[in-house]
Amino acid sequence: MTSYKELGLVNTVELFRKAISGGYAIPAYNFNNMEQLQAIIQACVETKSPVILQVSSGARKYANQNLLRNMARGAVEYARELGYDIPIALNLDHGDTFELCKDCIESGFSSVMIDGSSKPYDENVALTRKVVDFAHSQKDYVSVEGELGVLAGIEDEVEAEESHYTEPKEVVDFVNKTKVDSLAISIGTSHGRTKFKPEQCTRDANGILIPPPLRFDILQEIEKKIPGFPIVLHGSSSVPIEYVKIIEQYGGKLPDSVGIPEEQLRKAAKSAVCKINIDSDGRLAMTAMVRKVFAEQPGEFDPRKFLGPARDELKKMYAEKNKNVLGSAGQG
Ligand SMILES: [Zn+2]
Repeated sequence: MTSYKELGLVNTVELFRKAISGGYAIPAYNFNNMEQLQAIIQACVETKSPVILQVSSGARKYANQNLLRNMARGAVEYARELGYDIPIALNLDHGDTFELCKDCIESGFSSVMIDGSSKPYDENVALTRKVVDFAHSQKDYVSVEGELGVLAGIEDEVEAEESHYTEPKEVVDFVNKTKVDSLAISIGTSHGRTKFKPEQCTRDANGILIPPPLRFDILQEIEKKIPGFPIVLHGSSSVPIEYVKIIEQYGGKLPDSVGIPEEQLRKAAKSAVCKINIDSDGRLAMTAMVRKVFAEQPGEFDPRKFLGPARDELKKMYAEKNKNVLGSAGQG
């Protein structure tokens, strides 16, 4: 049993309180390996931004849970060494069972998401409440994120064909019954790099897909029902066309890529949305740089020579997001 405080981490309660009153969102960036973690910490220290490190159950299987937990501890020490002690939370992304959440809480996570959104409403409430009761009764309060409404798309093991927008009339009951600390909602964001089918989009003069706008009307209705309550947006990569183009220029194939435009995320960050999850953009930035190095330097076989440029690009992208999209720069 390890408490997150022993690792130097914080839970999300104070992070969200400040984000809502300050009109910005905390970045939640996923990691599975050292270079991704280096990029996240370097970018967030440089921009003095708080950060939520996210680990999916797929990442735990891929990298090993002990290794990831100790990497989070290392991230705290690395940030201090870089000269700025930013608040860092470690969140389980899309926990699907009580046992998985319990295991993460006991091994040092400061926050967990329990995603019962694919279950019938009452089962979602019961499962979420069970996780909350366990998390909140720890010596060091662990925060819990729940979800209402279903996002379309694929993210590791989470997959849904169709989205279902969050029903604003359900949120008060859900929050009261479960006692969650934050709520992920569905207002049109989506997991993965193909967030919408081409037929859901329009095209600009260059043939680039323009997605349908987020449902800010639903967000506003939810905010009215639970004023000041922390809202989370999953699936909020913007899928930068520059990276898609580099990947395709060097032999990749990513047809019909489309994300959430950054102006819309900027607008959401200024509202009660206080956590924005970004994963696919990091994958695209790294893949673009790795493909470029392989194509331009076919004799290269030192992993540092392709993972290094990938890490540096990722860092640059995260710093830009903190400064220009989430507004979290300077808030750490
Ligand atoms: Zn998600």
